[in-house]
Amino acid sequence: MSELPFSRPIDFEHCVTCEAPGEGHWFVFRGDQLLVELGPLERPSDDLRVRARPAWARLSLQKNHNWLGGAALRTLYLGCLRKVDCWAAELPAQAEAPAGMAWQGLRALFTVLDDAHFALAGRALQLIDWDRTHQFCGRCGTRTEAHPQERVRICPACQLSAYPRVAPAVMALVKRQNQILLARSPHFPPGMYSALAGFVEPGESLEQCLAREVAEEVGVQISNTRYFASQSWPFPHSLMIAFVCDWVSGEIKPQDEEIEEANWFEVLQLPKLPSKISIARRLIDAVVEEIKSTTDV
Ligand SMILES: [Zn+2]
Repeated sequence: MSELPFSRPIDFEHCVTCEAPGEGHWFVFRGDQLLVELGPLERPSDDLRVRARPAWARLSLQKNHNWLGGAALRTLYLGCLRKVDCWAAELPAQAEAPAGMAWQGLRALFTVLDDAHFALAGRALQLIDWDRTHQFCGRCGTRTEAHPQERVRICPACQLSAYPRVAPAVMALVKRQNQILLARSPHFPPGMYSALAGFVEPGESLEQCLAREVAEEVGVQISNTRYFASQSWPFPHSLMIAFVCDWVSGEIKPQDEEIEEANWFEVLQLPKLPSKISIARRLIDAVVEEIKSTTDV
């Protein structure tokens, strides 16, 4: 299986301090929009949340480390990609893009931006969010300080450490013979269905979370849980952990407000599916292929 989008590039070296800032790649965000050079929005999109993708897009390589002047709200060193320094920065919500550049959401840049840059943009977005939301100690309210060697902010008064947050979430694709269970949340684009998903609660294992989420969201019981793969998901800071499992009992009963509709689907009659940017699509495609290859459908 090829690497999922947002996987750490193999030639990336994580680091928190830069000895001698020079030429570098800059992942500059305004909210969740990345600053890029880009072509016209004319490429078709496989993502129902994205109308069209740019014909091309690239990060600019900046020779001058101080090219943003004093405009950045925060700047973080990410490390080295292919020996080139990589920086993350955040500009204010109303910041204008410099000449020749534009703001663009990450979903529209999937398959357009260089894969390694796309993955590091996901990392940068999460670290900027963490840095922005951990400026003050959660225990005593004192202003925190960045640690010089580690990715952590420390409270100088009470020593509380705040590491970047990652929220684990499980995803379940439930199989019943040659059918798969897909559902819609009310905030999905019209017509789109996906696998079930939910956040892990304190005090439960991934397997327990999976069984609970499936029971809560659609009222069915499962067994034979098989790990599929995991994906870093920077909207805003999740780790998606995907599984395939088998239906055991129960009729579908969608959970009020959480699930708009849920159905068993034959693999030859699937509804609109999520973009290939997400592990949900990788999971659904893999199980559909497996069903097709082992049956006469
Ligand atoms: Zn404190």
